[in-house]
Amino acid sequence: MSHHCKNLLVRCMDFRLTREMNKWMEKRGYIGDCDLVSLAGAGKAIADGTPEGEMLLSQIALSAKLHHSSCVALVHHSQCGAYAGAYSFANAEEEKEKQVSDMKKAAEIIKAKNPGISVKFIWANLQDDDGREIEFEEID
Ligand SMILES: [Zn+2]
Repeated sequence: MSHHCKNLLVRCMDFRLTREMNKWMEKRGYIGDCDLVSLAGAGKAIADGTPEGEMLLSQIALSAKLHHSSCVALVHHSQCGAYAGAYSFANAEEEKEKQVSDMKKAAEIIKAKNPGISVKFIWANLQDDDGREIEFEEID
């Protein structure tokens, strides 16, 4: 018996995302139709070419192989510890700019390794320090 889903969602492991993210996923039809990988910094590891990035790429290939997923949703977020540990941003705009650039870099690598796969970019903007309110934005 085979099981198929359309999407693979890759999010940061940050616990502050979970409550609002699950609601957003339900609303957008992801629940029940996506594989899910949580990794600190999400696509950062792929953009940086680290062993964790290789692991993430193998999960993406496995999801496509086992479940025929054809769309990767990369979810990055503001106030990300993986980025705060690696860079010192002057402001929130600078952090977002770097993360969006990493998401796009990761997408090129993902698409090169998985022909036919599309990649979406989701920016989760925490409205407070605890993730009580999060604004989700799809970036082109
Ligand atoms: Zn994070």
